[in-house]
Amino acid sequence: MLKIDNLHVAVGGAEILRGATLEVPAGEVHAVMGPNGSGKSTLSFALAGREGYEVTQGTALFDGEDLLALDPNERAARGLFLSFQHPLEIPGVATMNFIRTALNAQRKARGEEEVSAADFLRRIREKARLVGLSDDKLKRPFNVGFSGGEKKRMEMLQMALFEPRFAIMDETDSGLDIDALKMVGDVVNALRDGRRGFLVITHYQRLLEHIRPDRVHVLAAGRIVKSGGADLAHELERAGYEQFIEAA
Ligand code: ADP
Ligand code: MG
Ligand code: MG
Repeated sequence: MLKIDNLHVAVGGAEILRGATLEVPAGEVHAVMGPNGSGKSTLSFALAGREGYEVTQGTALFDGEDLLALDPNERAARGLFLSFQHPLEIPGVATMNFIRTALNAQRKARGEEEVSAADFLRRIREKARLVGLSDDKLKRPFNVGFSGGEKKRMEMLQMALFEPRFAIMDETDSGLDIDALKMVGDVVNALRDGRRGFLVITHYQRLLEHIRPDRVHVLAAGRIVKSGGADLAHELERAGYEQFIEAA
């Protein structure tokens, strides 16, 4: 479903990804783990099409289509969802309106009907409950003044609402307490349906106790240096990343 081959990405003229190769078949959950600065966020930004992330070599296909040729809105319209390590704040736009506009833009791009105001309200309230956010947050400007944990809950609310075909989650677990971590696991597991794909980027093994991955990949110095089953995450937790940094 997602096929990344020999991806090289430069940021500010410096090559950060240096030939990353990775394939996630439909229905699978893959984890990418790696030390700080190994290029995990760079990988997610490049796949999102964020400005300033220059692909200098390699390919990324989504359902066989050249993902890198699409603009960020088109990627979203294809059903690609990204949850960022540091979610944006949007002053002056109520959370509810921001999310409704984004949802309807995606539906429109897919040739689906817009969600009615009443239907949307019902759905977003249901998802807010699911992720543990109070209704009053939905009326406030998007993410403004939210704690780190509340922003992550907001990311998971959007993911639950958008029901993406493929989700890339960049350190959604960072800074979360144990209950919030379980919530993230619940949202992902509820969406797992044998067709949807997930790329779960994380620094620690904790989240993977809730979301058992089909495969685990180690990113070090801009390359996938090792892949294995779910147990690889435990091995990393024990042995650390040192061995891979040296190998890279
Ligand atoms: P990770 O998410 O694995 O911690 P990142 O992808 O955020 O790693 O960063 C990888 C490397 O790229 C780091 O060495 C970081 O300093 C560098 N980097 C990230 N963003 C920029 C930027 N905008 N300009 C220059 N270097 C950057
Ligand atoms: Mg980091
Ligand atoms: Mg990062």
